[in-house]
Amino acid sequence: MRLRGHHLICLNFLKEAFGPRFTELLEDMRKRALSGEEIEVIEGPDEICYACPFFRAGRCLYEEEVADMDRSALEILGLRVGDKVLMEHVRAVLRQKPEELRDFCSDCEFLSTCQPEVEKFLGT
Ligand code: SF4
Repeated sequence: MRLRGHHLICLNFLKEAFGPRFTELLEDMRKRALSGEEIEVIEGPDEICYACPFFRAGRCLYEEEVADMDRSALEILGLRVGDKVLMEHVRAVLRQKPEELRDFCSDCEFLSTCQPEVEKFLGT
């Protein structure tokens, strides 16, 4: 699968958003990623975006903000666009960087949904 930077992080924690169709897609992609499917890091919209209500005319309505999130996520993960990675590696890096992960999530509109998942993941 192909994922933009910040979705490498969000896919682990966001369990519900934008109604049943989007939530089902998240669940399906999370299962694929966690089962070991290779992930190619891409720039711009990915398969998750295509099902999102904010995806309009081929781009995210918040593309500038989310592009910043992509850059932050890739910096935390030590990855670049074009890299191929397994979710197992992403999760191992995130477990070593709890404060960076909490900081990354701190301004997100989905924080209240994801926070319990993040803390469970970090084992706190
Ligand atoms: S908000 Fe933007 S970046 Fe996030 S899933 Fe929707 S289209 Fe993609």
